[in-house]
Amino acid sequence: MTQTPGLHLDGTSRPGNGLPTTLIDPASGAEICVVAQSSVDDVRAAVDAAAAAFPAWSARTAGERARVLLRLADLLEDDADALTAMEVAETGKPVPVFRDGELPFAADNLRFFAGSARSLEGTGAGVLSEGFTSMLVRRPLGVVAGIAPWNFPLVMAIWKMGPALAAGNTMVLKPAPQTPRTTLRLAELAARAGLPAGVLNVVTGGADVGQALVADPRVAMVSVTGSPGAGRAVMETASATTKRVHLELGGKAPALVFADADLEGAAGALTMASTYNTGQDCTAATRVYVEASVAEELARLLTERMAAVTWGDPHDPATDIGPLVSVEHRDRVHGFVTRAVEAGAELLTGGELPEGPGGYYPPTLLRGAAQDAEIVQQEVFGPVLVLGTFASEDEAVALANDSDYGLASSVWTVDIGRALRVAHRIEAGVTWVNDHLPVASEAPHGGVKGSGFGKDMSHEAVLEYTVTQHVMIKHAARDAHDSFRPA
Ligand code: NAD
Repeated sequence: MTQTPGLHLDGTSRPGNGLPTTLIDPASGAEICVVAQSSVDDVRAAVDAAAAAFPAWSARTAGERARVLLRLADLLEDDADALTAMEVAETGKPVPVFRDGELPFAADNLRFFAGSARSLEGTGAGVLSEGFTSMLVRRPLGVVAGIAPWNFPLVMAIWKMGPALAAGNTMVLKPAPQTPRTTLRLAELAARAGLPAGVLNVVTGGADVGQALVADPRVAMVSVTGSPGAGRAVMETASATTKRVHLELGGKAPALVFADADLEGAAGALTMASTYNTGQDCTAATRVYVEASVAEELARLLTERMAAVTWGDPHDPATDIGPLVSVEHRDRVHGFVTRAVEAGAELLTGGELPEGPGGYYPPTLLRGAAQDAEIVQQEVFGPVLVLGTFASEDEAVALANDSDYGLASSVWTVDIGRALRVAHRIEAGVTWVNDHLPVASEAPHGGVKGSGFGKDMSHEAVLEYTVTQHVMIKHAARDAHDSFRPA
């Protein structure tokens, strides 16, 4: 079987010195290749390379850094065939979902970050204290670590490296062990785009490699997208060396459907929002609460739509959703559904384990689960939607907020006043009105509560990878003992 280098160090891809791992195609169960993953020593070498590259990269003008990112965006699009083959084989995403959706979106993200780098500016300047001229300067942090999950491997890599490099940092990036190849390829394309050696290094492996990265005292910040457990472990290790953390953790997004909403439209969009990427999306609609008077009607429409989703071979153009990322994950998802039914939830569609190879699981709709049930409270990360009801606006908001998570949400109504009232009260990083899932490079993405803190995408993401320095220049004599005199 082919061996794939599992380390991109100082501008070159090479085999790592860690434990090799075999990548499995979740659609067929077939072995794809063996990745020569990185070791803890490789992590140290990657941080060495990033630290050595930092002075020169951070000294470049924003315009120079932007040009490299723009060239990389073009190369990503030129490399669509190779990137699509890798990502589809590792994740099981349908080909058009990646090639015509996520890949162009990743290129758009990069172009946005390139522009954003050029509008980084201090927020104030002038005489803030008598006798001194102040400058507020945005500076990069140094070496940043990025740790990414398997559900959107390329997009997540771009969300980490794009703003970090745009702001002038250097980086060591670790993809998830199941899906490393598009991130390694990204580093190779970046070298081709003119990114200096050492600015972007990629290490591969699991939690041990991630922990070595987080523990390194030369790493100034860690940005992780993953499960709450991984986020907490990263935060704990990062505290020993007082580094900044940025946590994009899970979600359990509610959708509140009021009786006046376009129910047909809501059923179609919520089916998409709960099954896109086979439900392995932290912003996926997972809990639909509908006003009691239209509950039967929405249940009927959702059952029809969910049952009509075509699941199967990611290479078949008719396929809407591919398999889950692995058979193990599929079994975990099925475990949630089985326990929910045992606890009294009613299965409206799906819920059966398909026969044959691969991690396939049908879109599944449940109703009648208790609000404190595992299926309502925990992240399933599969194409599973739970339907509940509410009697009033207050109850709808209370149910939506009754969650450890706070990443995404949606409200469905034609009453603009109600849409705004509800949006203002929902505890979530994003609230869509009459849709659920769309994203834009300009809009910040990130959560509250157990979903973490920090924003990906948008100018806010670029700011997160910087620190403000106050440069205070004495331009006139003053009393040396008078430092705290108010302006
Ligand atoms: P995971 O937590 O298992 O792994 C995520 C990454 O963290 C991987 O690279 C993994 O190797 C690494 N990791 C795991 N434990 C670690 C540790 N102790 N120290 C350092 N690194 C560690 O998550 P996953 O299964 O790959 O991804 C699914 C999770 O990611 C879900 O919870 C999902 O909601 C979340 N997610 C969140 C967002 C968001 O933007 N909020 C986006 C996508 C996925």
